[in-house]
Amino acid sequence: MKIYATQVGPIMTNCYLLCDEEAKVCALIDPGDEPERLEQMVARSGCELQMILLTHGHFDHCSGVRGLLAHHPDVPVYIHRLDTVDPGVRNDLKFPRLDDHNQRYYAEGDTVNVGGITLTVWATPGHSRGSVCLITDGVIFSGDTLFRGSCGRTDFPDGSYPDILQSLGRLGRLAGNYRVLPGHEEQSELDFERRFNPYLKRGLTL
Ligand SMILES: [Zn+2]
Repeated sequence: MKIYATQVGPIMTNCYLLCDEEAKVCALIDPGDEPERLEQMVARSGCELQMILLTHGHFDHCSGVRGLLAHHPDVPVYIHRLDTVDPGVRNDLKFPRLDDHNQRYYAEGDTVNVGGITLTVWATPGHSRGSVCLITDGVIFSGDTLFRGSCGRTDFPDGSYPDILQSLGRLGRLAGNYRVLPGHEEQSELDFERRFNPYLKRGLTL
């Protein structure tokens, strides 16, 4: 497993390219902008793009999707259904659904496979109702649920502070240490967050 990270767009969203280098396949997580540059990143990896995975529907995490589909018309795009909206509806906080050829949904407990890498989907509402974390061996792609020392905003219309505390507490109860790869800012580790993140610590008491 190899993970490349880059920042895209005006809000500097972290986009991750997750590669199974033996199987030569990869997935893009949160292609928030700059699809041409992300396409180059995929090409340089030598891996075939197998799927696009979205941690939630905010525009800064998914605005690059349609540009990537121009290069990869058959790639499935996964998101939690609660963070989608009818096509054509203008809403920066929800992902306008694609046609059935590309659109896939995932929900709590689902798994997706990128070659030999299995990602488990956790529904982690709070930042948005359909926020998810993607968890694999030793790594959490935490979207805007868990940041280094902090957590995502909950003041959007479908945000919930009680919910994000519950979600953070659940992450904190995972056994062992994990790399935390968030949707913005620096990477972290779960052990660090258990010690220093006031929101996660509060969540652990609930
Ligand atoms: Zn967001």
